Amino acid sequence: MNHLLFGHGTSVGVGAASAAGDAARARSAAGSAKRDVAHMEDRLERLSLVCMAMWSLIQDKTKLTEEDLLERVKMIDLMDGVEDGKATRGVQKCRACGRVMSARHRKCLYCGAEKLAKSAFDAI
Ligand SMILES: [Zn+2]
Repeated sequence: MNHLLFGHGTSVGVGAASAAGDAARARSAAGSAKRDVAHMEDRLERLSLVCMAMWSLIQDKTKLTEEDLLERVKMIDLMDGVEDGKATRGVQKCRACGRVMSARHRKCLYCGAEKLAKSAFDAI
């Protein structure tokens, strides 16, 4: 009987089976991460398209210019104190337990209290 093939009877066979399982799980996790990234890229492209369409409509209906938009982008970028091309969310403390709340969750991870929305973008 081939112990390596069936993965039992020797420590080498058990180790090889475990390594093969680890490799299979790693391949599966990598495939899942690739699909997640592709999905995010697709959503980002669609979001960019909608933003461009909205900006085009705003320009058609108002006298706002590209310079106005760039100036506003810079102003909002600086609201977190760092000009980095991102609208970084500020740290918010839970009003119920006082712990730092995750920017990615709508409720406190410690006590379950709802996060107070300061703007419409807090819900995104
Ligand atoms: Zn809390």
